[in-house]
Amino acid sequence: MRAILTAILFPVLLHSASAKLSPLATAPDWSELDKFQRTITSAEFKSLLEKIYAPDGASAGLIVVGEKSACIATSPGKPPYILEFAAPGESKAPPRFWKTRAELPARPANKPLAGLKIALDPGHIGGKWAKMEERWFQIGDSVPVVEGDMVLRVAKLLIPRLQALGAEVALTRTGSEPATKLRPAQLRKAAAAALREKGERATPSAVTKESEKLFYRTSEIRRRAEIVNTTIRPDLVLCLHFNAEPWGNPARPSLVSENHLHFLITGAWSRKELEYEDQRHEMLYKLLSRSFDEEKAATKTLAKTMAAATGLPPYIYTGGTVVRIDPAGYIWARNLLANRLFRCPVIYAEPYVMNSREVFRRVQAGDFEGVKTIAGRPRRNIYREYADAIAAGLAAHYRLP
Ligand SMILES: [Zn+2]
Repeated sequence: MRAILTAILFPVLLHSASAKLSPLATAPDWSELDKFQRTITSAEFKSLLEKIYAPDGASAGLIVVGEKSACIATSPGKPPYILEFAAPGESKAPPRFWKTRAELPARPANKPLAGLKIALDPGHIGGKWAKMEERWFQIGDSVPVVEGDMVLRVAKLLIPRLQALGAEVALTRTGSEPATKLRPAQLRKAAAAALREKGERATPSAVTKESEKLFYRTSEIRRRAEIVNTTIRPDLVLCLHFNAEPWGNPARPSLVSENHLHFLITGAWSRKELEYEDQRHEMLYKLLSRSFDEEKAATKTLAKTMAAATGLPPYIYTGGTVVRIDPAGYIWARNLLANRLFRCPVIYAEPYVMNSREVFRRVQAGDFEGVKTIAGRPRRNIYREYADAIAAGLAAHYRLP
Protein backbone atom coordinates (compact mmCIF):
# COMPACT_ATOMS: atom_id res chain seq x y z
CA MET A 1 0.00 0.00 0.00
CA ARG A 2 2.76 2.40 1.01
CA ALA A 3 4.66 1.70 -2.19
CA ILE A 4 1.60 2.27 -4.37
CA LEU A 5 0.75 5.52 -2.65
CA THR A 6 4.32 6.78 -2.90
CA ALA A 7 4.46 5.88 -6.57
CA ILE A 8 1.22 7.71 -7.29
CA LEU A 9 1.99 10.86 -5.31
CA PHE A 10 5.75 11.09 -5.56
CA PRO A 11 5.86 12.98 -8.90
CA VAL A 12 3.52 15.64 -7.54
CA LEU A 13 5.63 16.11 -4.44
CA LEU A 14 8.89 15.98 -6.30
CA HIS A 15 8.03 19.07 -8.26
CA SER A 16 6.50 21.12 -5.47
CA ALA A 17 9.01 20.22 -2.76
CA SER A 18 11.61 22.82 -1.98
CA ALA A 19 14.98 22.78 -0.26
CA LYS A 20 14.23 26.12 1.35
CA LEU A 21 15.16 26.55 5.02
CA SER A 22 14.24 29.53 7.25
CA PRO A 23 17.11 31.70 8.56
CA LEU A 24 19.34 29.84 11.06
CA ALA A 25 17.25 26.67 10.75
CA THR A 26 18.90 23.28 10.39
CA ALA A 27 17.55 20.65 7.99
CA PRO A 28 14.82 18.75 9.84
CA ASP A 29 15.07 15.11 10.84
CA TRP A 30 11.89 13.59 9.40
CA SER A 31 12.30 10.41 11.44
CA GLU A 32 11.31 12.53 14.46
CA LEU A 33 7.74 12.06 13.22
CA ASP A 34 8.01 8.24 13.48
CA LYS A 35 6.67 8.29 17.03
CA PHE A 36 3.40 9.73 15.71
CA GLN A 37 2.75 6.80 13.34
CA ARG A 38 -0.80 5.43 13.70
CA THR A 39 -1.72 7.86 16.52
CA ILE A 40 -4.18 10.11 14.67
CA THR A 41 -7.07 9.29 12.33
CA SER A 42 -7.30 10.69 8.83
CA ALA A 43 -10.37 12.75 9.79
CA GLU A 44 -8.68 14.30 12.85
CA PHE A 45 -5.54 15.09 10.87
CA LYS A 46 -7.51 16.67 8.06
CA SER A 47 -9.60 18.77 10.39
CA LEU A 48 -6.60 20.14 12.32
CA LEU A 49 -4.69 20.76 9.09
CA GLU A 50 -7.47 22.58 7.27
CA LYS A 51 -9.05 24.48 10.15
CA ILE A 52 -6.07 25.44 12.31
CA TYR A 53 -2.62 24.82 10.85
CA ALA A 54 -2.81 25.29 7.09
CA PRO A 55 -6.01 27.18 6.27
CA ASP A 56 -7.13 28.06 2.72
CA GLY A 57 -5.45 25.03 1.15
CA ALA A 58 -1.96 26.23 2.18
CA SER A 59 -0.61 22.66 2.25
CA ALA A 60 -1.93 21.59 -1.19
CA GLY A 61 0.70 19.61 -3.12
CA LEU A 62 2.99 19.46 -0.08
CA ILE A 63 0.86 17.26 2.15
CA VAL A 64 -1.51 14.88 0.39
CA VAL A 65 -4.01 13.35 2.78
CA GLY A 66 -5.48 9.94 2.01
CA GLU A 67 -7.76 7.60 3.95
CA LYS A 68 -4.96 5.46 5.37
CA SER A 69 -1.95 7.76 5.23
CA ALA A 70 -0.61 11.19 4.33
CA CYS A 71 2.21 11.72 1.88
CA ILE A 72 4.46 14.60 2.91
CA ALA A 73 7.06 16.39 0.82
CA THR A 74 10.54 16.34 2.41
CA SER A 75 13.60 17.56 0.44
CA PRO A 76 13.86 17.66 -3.34
CA GLY A 77 15.14 14.36 -4.66
CA LYS A 78 14.30 12.53 -1.43
CA PRO A 79 11.26 10.25 -1.03
CA PRO A 80 8.26 11.76 0.73
CA TYR A 81 7.53 10.97 4.35
CA ILE A 82 4.57 8.65 4.77
CA LEU A 83 2.51 9.12 7.89
CA GLU A 84 0.13 6.25 8.51
CA PHE A 85 -3.16 7.04 10.22
CA ALA A 86 -4.88 5.20 13.06
CA ALA A 87 -8.05 3.37 12.05
CA PRO A 88 -11.26 5.34 12.72
CA GLY A 89 -12.01 5.33 16.46
CA GLU A 90 -8.51 4.14 17.32
CA SER A 91 -6.56 7.38 17.72
CA LYS A 92 -4.33 7.51 20.80
CA ALA A 93 -2.18 9.97 22.73
CA PRO A 94 1.25 10.21 21.10
CA PRO A 95 4.43 9.96 23.20
CA ARG A 96 5.43 13.42 24.53
CA PHE A 97 7.25 14.87 27.53
CA TRP A 98 4.35 17.05 28.68
CA LYS A 99 1.18 16.19 30.55
CA THR A 100 -2.33 17.26 29.58
CA ARG A 101 -4.64 18.61 32.26
CA ALA A 102 -6.35 15.20 32.41
CA GLU A 103 -2.99 13.47 32.93
CA LEU A 104 -2.00 15.56 35.97
CA PRO A 105 -2.00 13.72 39.29
CA ALA A 106 -4.83 14.13 41.81
CA ARG A 107 -4.32 17.42 43.63
CA PRO A 108 -5.87 19.32 46.55
CA ALA A 109 -8.37 22.10 45.76
CA ASN A 110 -5.99 24.82 47.02
CA LYS A 111 -3.12 23.53 44.81
CA PRO A 112 -4.75 23.32 41.37
CA LEU A 113 -1.33 23.53 39.66
CA ALA A 114 0.32 20.74 41.70
CA GLY A 115 2.26 18.43 39.37
CA LEU A 116 2.36 21.06 36.60
CA LYS A 117 5.67 22.39 35.29
CA ILE A 118 5.38 25.83 33.71
CA ALA A 119 8.08 27.63 31.72
CA LEU A 120 7.66 31.39 31.72
CA ASP A 121 9.07 33.06 28.62
CA PRO A 122 9.34 36.82 29.15
CA GLY A 123 9.36 38.09 25.56
CA HIS A 124 12.37 39.94 24.09
CA ILE A 125 15.61 40.68 25.95
CA GLY A 126 15.23 44.21 27.34
CA GLY A 127 17.94 46.10 29.21
CA LYS A 128 20.67 47.49 26.99
CA TRP A 129 19.31 45.53 24.02
CA ALA A 130 15.84 47.11 24.13
CA LYS A 131 16.59 49.94 21.67
CA MET A 132 18.12 47.53 19.15
CA GLU A 133 15.11 45.23 19.38
CA GLU A 134 12.78 48.23 18.92
CA ARG A 135 10.93 47.54 22.13
CA TRP A 136 11.77 50.86 23.80
CA PHE A 137 10.39 54.40 23.76
CA GLN A 138 10.52 57.47 25.93
CA ILE A 139 8.69 60.79 25.95
CA GLY A 140 10.93 63.66 27.13
CA ASP A 141 12.33 62.56 30.47
CA SER A 142 9.57 60.03 31.19
CA VAL A 143 10.24 56.56 32.56
CA PRO A 144 11.28 54.64 29.40
CA VAL A 145 8.71 52.10 28.25
CA VAL A 146 10.68 48.87 27.75
CA GLU A 147 8.70 45.75 26.89
CA GLY A 148 11.50 43.30 27.70
CA ASP A 149 11.89 44.73 31.22
CA MET A 150 8.14 45.01 31.82
CA VAL A 151 7.44 41.36 30.99
CA LEU A 152 10.37 40.24 33.16
CA ARG A 153 8.79 42.16 36.02
CA VAL A 154 5.48 40.34 35.40
CA ALA A 155 7.30 36.98 35.22
CA LYS A 156 8.99 37.62 38.59
CA LEU A 157 5.63 38.48 40.16
CA LEU A 158 4.18 35.30 38.68
CA ILE A 159 6.77 32.93 40.19
CA PRO A 160 5.53 33.07 43.82
CA ARG A 161 1.89 33.21 42.69
CA LEU A 162 2.19 30.05 40.58
CA GLN A 163 4.31 28.26 43.18
CA ALA A 164 1.67 28.99 45.84
CA LEU A 165 -0.83 27.24 43.56
CA GLY A 166 1.45 24.19 43.46
CA ALA A 167 3.28 24.68 40.13
CA GLU A 168 6.94 24.11 39.45
CA VAL A 169 8.17 27.24 37.61
CA ALA A 170 11.17 27.78 35.33
CA LEU A 171 12.16 30.86 33.31
CA THR A 172 13.75 31.11 29.86
CA ARG A 173 15.59 34.20 31.12
CA THR A 174 15.98 35.76 34.56
CA GLY A 175 17.72 38.98 33.51
CA SER A 176 18.34 41.16 30.47
CA GLU A 177 21.11 39.08 28.93
CA PRO A 178 20.54 37.10 25.74
CA ALA A 179 20.30 33.31 25.96
CA THR A 180 22.02 33.00 22.56
CA LYS A 181 25.80 33.13 22.39
CA LEU A 182 25.74 34.60 18.86
CA ARG A 183 26.00 38.36 18.30
CA PRO A 184 25.14 40.49 15.22
CA ALA A 185 28.78 40.63 14.05
CA GLN A 186 28.80 36.83 13.69
CA LEU A 187 25.54 36.85 11.75
CA ARG A 188 26.40 39.16 8.83
CA LYS A 189 26.84 36.32 6.35
CA ALA A 190 23.52 34.76 7.36
CA ALA A 191 21.94 38.23 7.21
CA ALA A 192 23.11 38.84 3.64
CA ALA A 193 21.76 35.41 2.65
CA ALA A 194 18.43 36.13 4.35
CA LEU A 195 18.11 39.45 2.49
CA ARG A 196 18.86 37.81 -0.88
CA GLU A 197 16.29 35.11 -0.11
CA LYS A 198 13.70 37.85 0.48
CA GLY A 199 14.70 39.50 -2.79
CA GLU A 200 16.11 42.55 -1.00
CA ARG A 201 19.45 44.27 -1.62
CA ALA A 202 22.23 43.38 0.81
CA THR A 203 23.61 46.90 1.33
CA PRO A 204 25.92 47.32 4.38
CA SER A 205 23.24 49.11 6.40
CA ALA A 206 20.58 46.54 5.45
CA VAL A 207 22.96 43.73 6.48
CA THR A 208 23.58 45.43 9.84
CA LYS A 209 19.86 45.75 10.53
CA GLU A 210 19.16 42.17 9.42
CA SER A 211 22.06 40.74 11.46
CA GLU A 212 20.63 42.49 14.54
CA LYS A 213 17.22 40.96 13.88
CA LEU A 214 18.76 37.52 13.41
CA PHE A 215 20.48 38.00 16.78
CA TYR A 216 17.72 39.37 19.03
CA ARG A 217 14.83 37.53 17.42
CA THR A 218 15.78 34.44 15.42
CA SER A 219 18.87 33.20 17.24
CA GLU A 220 17.55 34.20 20.67
CA ILE A 221 14.21 32.45 20.19
CA ARG A 222 15.85 29.34 18.72
CA ARG A 223 18.14 29.13 21.76
CA ARG A 224 15.23 29.54 24.18
CA ALA A 225 13.31 26.80 22.36
CA GLU A 226 16.32 24.51 22.74
CA ILE A 227 16.38 25.21 26.49
CA VAL A 228 12.64 24.57 26.78
CA ASN A 229 12.58 21.40 24.65
CA THR A 230 15.70 19.73 26.01
CA THR A 231 16.31 21.06 29.54
CA ILE A 232 13.09 22.41 31.08
CA ARG A 233 10.64 20.10 29.27
CA PRO A 234 7.58 21.78 30.82
CA ASP A 235 3.89 20.92 30.54
CA LEU A 236 3.17 24.45 29.39
CA VAL A 237 5.04 27.52 28.10
CA LEU A 238 3.60 30.91 28.93
CA CYS A 239 4.93 33.65 26.63
CA LEU A 240 4.52 37.06 28.23
CA HIS A 241 4.28 40.22 26.11
CA PHE A 242 2.83 43.70 26.10
CA ASN A 243 1.31 44.76 22.79
CA ALA A 244 1.84 48.07 20.97
CA GLU A 245 0.44 50.03 18.06
CA PRO A 246 3.00 51.56 15.66
CA TRP A 247 4.68 54.43 17.50
CA GLY A 248 7.00 55.88 14.86
CA ASN A 249 10.10 57.61 16.17
CA PRO A 250 11.00 56.06 19.59
CA ALA A 251 12.25 59.46 20.81
CA ARG A 252 8.98 61.15 19.79
CA PRO A 253 6.49 58.29 19.86
CA SER A 254 2.84 58.76 19.11
CA LEU A 255 0.40 57.84 21.85
CA VAL A 256 -2.91 56.28 20.77
CA SER A 257 -6.31 55.77 22.34
CA GLU A 258 -6.61 52.06 21.42
CA ASN A 259 -5.96 49.56 24.18
CA HIS A 260 -6.76 45.87 23.81
CA LEU A 261 -6.06 42.25 24.67
CA HIS A 262 -5.55 39.05 22.73
CA PHE A 263 -3.90 35.64 22.94
CA LEU A 264 -2.15 33.62 20.25
CA ILE A 265 -2.05 29.89 19.55
CA THR A 266 0.34 28.31 17.05
CA GLY A 267 -1.30 27.81 13.67
CA ALA A 268 -2.23 29.54 10.41
CA TRP A 269 0.82 28.71 8.30
CA SER A 270 0.72 30.34 4.88
CA ARG A 271 1.54 28.54 1.66
CA LYS A 272 4.82 30.47 1.46
CA GLU A 273 5.81 29.47 4.98
CA LEU A 274 4.98 25.80 4.36
CA GLU A 275 7.35 25.77 1.41
CA TYR A 276 10.20 26.00 3.93
CA GLU A 277 11.10 22.43 4.82
CA ASP A 278 11.83 23.24 8.49
CA GLN A 279 8.51 25.05 8.91
CA ARG A 280 6.57 22.19 7.30
CA HIS A 281 8.25 19.79 9.72
CA GLU A 282 7.60 22.04 12.73
CA MET A 283 3.95 22.45 11.77
CA LEU A 284 3.48 18.69 11.52
CA TYR A 285 5.29 18.11 14.82
CA LYS A 286 2.98 20.63 16.49
CA LEU A 287 -0.16 19.19 14.87
CA LEU A 288 0.75 15.56 15.62
CA SER A 289 1.70 16.25 19.25
CA ARG A 290 -1.96 17.33 19.65
CA SER A 291 -1.20 20.39 21.74
CA PHE A 292 -4.01 22.41 20.17
CA ASP A 293 -6.84 21.20 22.43
CA GLU A 294 -4.79 21.94 25.55
CA GLU A 295 -3.78 25.35 24.23
CA LYS A 296 -7.31 26.29 23.29
CA ALA A 297 -8.90 25.17 26.56
CA ALA A 298 -6.28 26.90 28.76
CA THR A 299 -6.25 30.08 26.66
CA LYS A 300 -10.05 30.30 26.71
CA THR A 301 -10.12 30.38 30.50
CA LEU A 302 -7.18 32.79 30.65
CA ALA A 303 -8.78 35.14 28.12
CA LYS A 304 -11.99 35.21 30.12
CA THR A 305 -10.19 35.91 33.40
CA MET A 306 -7.93 38.54 31.88
CA ALA A 307 -10.70 40.34 29.99
CA ALA A 308 -12.68 40.60 33.25
CA ALA A 309 -9.65 41.80 35.26
CA THR A 310 -8.49 44.41 32.74
CA GLY A 311 -11.76 45.42 31.09
CA LEU A 312 -9.89 45.39 27.77
CA PRO A 313 -11.70 44.72 24.47
CA PRO A 314 -10.41 42.07 22.05
CA TYR A 315 -7.95 42.89 19.28
CA ILE A 316 -9.50 42.06 15.92
CA TYR A 317 -7.09 41.21 13.10
CA THR A 318 -8.06 42.69 9.76
CA GLY A 319 -5.28 41.18 7.65
CA GLY A 320 -2.45 38.68 7.59
CA THR A 321 -2.64 34.91 7.81
CA VAL A 322 -4.61 34.28 10.99
CA VAL A 323 -7.38 31.97 12.18
CA ARG A 324 -9.95 33.27 14.63
CA ILE A 325 -10.31 30.72 17.43
CA ASP A 326 -13.04 32.22 19.62
CA PRO A 327 -16.14 34.15 18.51
CA ALA A 328 -15.32 37.12 20.76
CA GLY A 329 -11.95 37.67 19.06
CA TYR A 330 -9.67 37.28 22.06
CA ILE A 331 -7.89 34.18 20.68
CA TRP A 332 -6.17 33.87 17.31
CA ALA A 333 -3.92 31.33 15.64
CA ARG A 334 -0.72 32.71 14.12
CA ASN A 335 2.57 31.21 13.05
CA LEU A 336 5.34 32.89 15.04
CA LEU A 337 8.85 31.62 15.62
CA ALA A 338 8.23 32.46 19.28
CA ASN A 339 5.38 29.97 19.63
CA ARG A 340 5.91 27.26 17.01
CA LEU A 341 9.33 26.06 18.20
CA PHE A 342 8.20 25.04 21.69
CA ARG A 343 7.28 21.34 21.60
CA CYS A 344 4.54 21.52 24.21
CA PRO A 345 1.35 23.57 24.71
CA VAL A 346 2.06 27.30 24.46
CA ILE A 347 -0.03 30.20 25.71
CA TYR A 348 1.01 33.54 24.25
CA ALA A 349 -0.38 36.65 25.94
CA GLU A 350 -0.58 40.05 24.25
CA PRO A 351 -2.41 42.32 26.71
CA TYR A 352 -2.23 46.14 26.91
CA VAL A 353 -1.09 48.59 24.23
CA MET A 354 2.13 50.08 25.66
CA ASN A 355 1.79 53.32 23.71
CA SER A 356 -1.86 53.90 24.57
CA ARG A 357 -2.30 57.01 26.69
CA GLU A 358 -3.69 54.95 29.53
CA VAL A 359 -0.96 52.29 29.64
CA PHE A 360 1.75 54.92 29.25
CA ARG A 361 0.44 56.65 32.38
CA ARG A 362 0.16 53.36 34.24
CA VAL A 363 3.79 52.53 33.38
CA GLN A 364 4.82 55.98 34.65
CA ALA A 365 3.00 55.20 37.93
CA GLY A 366 5.26 52.13 38.34
CA ASP A 367 4.92 49.48 41.00
CA PHE A 368 2.63 50.65 43.85
CA GLU A 369 0.41 49.11 46.51
CA GLY A 370 -3.38 49.30 46.33
CA VAL A 371 -5.31 51.52 43.93
CA LYS A 372 -4.52 54.90 42.34
CA THR A 373 -6.60 57.09 40.07
CA ILE A 374 -4.86 57.02 36.70
CA ALA A 375 -6.35 58.47 33.51
CA GLY A 376 -9.58 59.19 35.39
CA ARG A 377 -10.19 55.71 36.82
CA PRO A 378 -9.10 53.82 39.92
CA ARG A 379 -6.50 51.27 38.86
CA ARG A 380 -4.13 48.72 40.33
CA ASN A 381 -0.52 48.61 39.38
CA ILE A 382 -0.38 47.20 35.86
CA TYR A 383 2.23 44.50 36.57
CA ARG A 384 0.31 43.00 39.47
CA GLU A 385 -2.97 43.21 37.57
CA TYR A 386 -1.31 41.24 34.73
CA ALA A 387 0.29 38.64 37.02
CA ASP A 388 -2.80 38.17 39.21
CA ALA A 389 -5.06 37.67 36.19
CA ILE A 390 -2.73 35.07 34.63
CA ALA A 391 -2.42 33.17 37.93
CA ALA A 392 -6.19 33.25 38.48
CA GLY A 393 -6.83 32.08 34.91
CA LEU A 394 -4.42 29.15 35.19
CA ALA A 395 -5.86 28.17 38.58
CA ALA A 396 -9.37 28.20 37.09
CA HIS A 397 -8.30 26.09 34.13
CA TYR A 398 -6.44 23.42 36.12
CA ARG A 399 -8.84 23.26 39.07
CA LEU A 400 -10.47 19.86 39.23
CA PRO A 401 -14.17 19.95 38.36
ZN1 LIG B 1 6.41 41.42 22.52
